[in-house]
Amino acid sequence: MNLRAAVTLASPAPASAARPALPDAQTVTAVTHWTDRLFSFRVTRPKTLRFRSGEFVMIGLLDDRGKPLLRAYSIASPSWDEELEFYSIKVPDGPLTSRLQHIRPGDQIILRPKPVGTLVLDALRPGRRLFLFATGTGIAPFASLLRDPETWERFEQVVVMHTCRLAAELEYGRQLVEGLPDDPLIGDMVSGRLLYYPTTTQEPSARTGRITDNLATGRVFDDLAIPTIDPASDRGMVCGSLGFNIDMKAILEGWGLREGANSDPAEYVVEKAFVG
Ligand SMILES: Cc1cc2nc3c(=O)[nH]c(=O)nc-3n(C[C@H](O)[C@H](O)[C@H](O)COP(=O)(O)OP(=O)(O)OC[C@H]3O[C@@H](n4cnc5c(N)ncnc54)[C@H](O)[C@@H]3O)c2cc1C
Repeated sequence: MNLRAAVTLASPAPASAARPALPDAQTVTAVTHWTDRLFSFRVTRPKTLRFRSGEFVMIGLLDDRGKPLLRAYSIASPSWDEELEFYSIKVPDGPLTSRLQHIRPGDQIILRPKPVGTLVLDALRPGRRLFLFATGTGIAPFASLLRDPETWERFEQVVVMHTCRLAAELEYGRQLVEGLPDDPLIGDMVSGRLLYYPTTTQEPSARTGRITDNLATGRVFDDLAIPTIDPASDRGMVCGSLGFNIDMKAILEGWGLREGANSDPAEYVVEKAFVG
């Protein structure tokens, strides 16, 4: 069970005598461990980095041979934030995250400042409701979009569905979503327009079940007392495992939504939360 309370490290690690010079180095400013499988961290932002909320960049560390070991990471902070935030899995034998999970404030990471991605507002046609569907760390790009005023300017209502195995794994997303109405920048825009539907699949919690099942059975619409999906006015963003994304595409297309892209905006967009 992952019931350990979140632990935030804000003081710098002891200065390392022989710190290697990293290419595209950024400095870690804070680290929060949410469970034994999940952590978030903030780093300095390159002055030249411009990105659209929802995009991802390549980040990493040097490997044992001094070569950059990079992986794709969604930027979890909004485009206006002075720092960059990331939300990460800890894969026990993962080449990057077996090391990355030990970073502390003051450490450096590599950050290639070339943001890309399809989970951007520009890839969606105008609509009234925006549905965000995430499993696991797939909440990261939505943590960015939910804190961006443009999301609230473009849509009347935002519905967040996030599913994890365990309740503790929902905590990063829960604190972020539940804090939005008190956010000094967008709190007033969010009030009364945000619906949150977190569920677990492997332990009991207030709400359980897979996103796909809760959509297909209509349970989420009944529980939230909202109409089902209408392709004329509803838009969707999907971020999860390959299997989840495939199932979601079938469900959304069954409702008449079409997949969009930067070059050809439509009713929904999808991106992998990881490869594998
Ligand atoms: C577009 C994109 C955006 C991504 N954004 C994020 C992000 O914001 N946060 C994040 O933690 N990861 C993200 N990833 C995954 C990330 O790139 C790495 O795979 C992850 O950091 C693990 O790296 P690793 O070298 O330790 O292990 P890897 O060798 O990369 O992965 C080992 C195995 O671990 C599993 N795995 C990897 N990542 C995850 C994950 N996030 N959740 C569950 N299982 C996983 C897979 O089965 C994979 O085969 C993203 C991937 C893509 C393609």
